[in-house]
Amino acid sequence: MLYTYQLQTKKEHFHDITKQVQDAVKESGVEEGTCLVFCPHTTAAITINENADPDVVSDLLVGIEKAFPDRREFRHFEGNSAAHLKASCVGASETLVISQEKLLLGTWQGIYFCEFDGPRNRTFYVKIT
Ligand code: ZN
Repeated sequence: MLYTYQLQTKKEHFHDITKQVQDAVKESGVEEGTCLVFCPHTTAAITINENADPDVVSDLLVGIEKAFPDRREFRHFEGNSAAHLKASCVGASETLVISQEKLLLGTWQGIYFCEFDGPRNRTFYVKIT
């Protein structure tokens, strides 16, 4: 089963999509399998990290910004090379295990759509097999 979701993002932001992915798994009826979450954009990404303390994703954004600042040497005409770098380093997808009709996530883990060049209308896919 393939599920498609639309999202309106902020400038730079980690959007918690755990509930949507969990609901897709439930709706699919798959008891044991895998779930792929995929971002079809070049300046956004998917990651899994802590969803208990919101300061964690806030700190991730600060750390990623420090690691990949905008640079004068960048040549890309659009002027958003730092966002492309961030997206590539975080990655376009995550694969999760489905066990007993649920995502096998750790207690503190959540799934995030990571926006690095918003605000934009974005899409992500959830493929369940
Ligand atoms: Zn670009």
